[in-house]
Amino acid sequence: MFESNMSGNRSSKVVGRRAFLVVSGVALVGLALKHYGSFAPMQASAAPSGPPKEINIVEFTNAGVRKGIVSVPKIQKTEAEWKAQLSSAAFEVTRHADTERPFTGELLNVHDKGVFRCVCCDTALYSSETKLESGTGWPSFWAPIAKENVGESTDGSFGMDRTTVSCRRCDAHLGHVFDDGPKPMGLRYCMNSVSLKFAAA
Ligand SMILES: [Zn+2]
Repeated sequence: MFESNMSGNRSSKVVGRRAFLVVSGVALVGLALKHYGSFAPMQASAAPSGPPKEINIVEFTNAGVRKGIVSVPKIQKTEAEWKAQLSSAAFEVTRHADTERPFTGELLNVHDKGVFRCVCCDTALYSSETKLESGTGWPSFWAPIAKENVGESTDGSFGMDRTTVSCRRCDAHLGHVFDDGPKPMGLRYCMNSVSLKFAAA
C-alpha cells in the first residue's frame, strides 16, 4: 500500500521507510536493554541532544553601542572542541570553573575604550566604562554590559556562598559577583582575565 502511492520517487521513499524500520529496531533493542538495566548509560551518551535552546542576547559594537536584542542558539561544543579552540588556561577556567592566579591576567590593567567579550563565543559581556580598580588582582566591573548576556547562579563550593557568573550564550565560567561594589549598584563582578578578550573601540 505504501508503494502503490509512489510516482517517480520510488527508491528514495523505500530507503526512507527502511531507515525508519532500522531506527525502530534500534529503539526496540534500546527498550529491551533498558528493561534489563544495562542500557541507561549508553542511552544517555547516544541520545541526540536535540536542537540547541534559543536565547535572547543583546549585541553591541566594539564602541559599546547597543545594536539590539537578537535570538541566537546556545553554543554547545564537546570538551575536545573547546580544548582545540582555547588556550589551556582559558579552557580550564571557562569550561572547568578554574580560577586564574591574581595579578597575572593580561586584561587587568587595560583601560582603553572598548568591550570585553567572551573568549569562547565573542558575546559582549562588559564595557570599559564599568571597569573598576578593585585591588583584587582580577579584572573587575560594577555591571555587565547587558543582564541578558550573563548568567548568575549560586555556588556553594569551598564552603563559601558565592554567585558564579557565566556567559549566557556558551555557559563559559567567567568569575563571581559580590555585593561590595561601589554605589549605586553595589556590585563587583570579579572576572578571570583569561575568560575575556578585549575588543578596542
Ligand atoms: Zn560565551
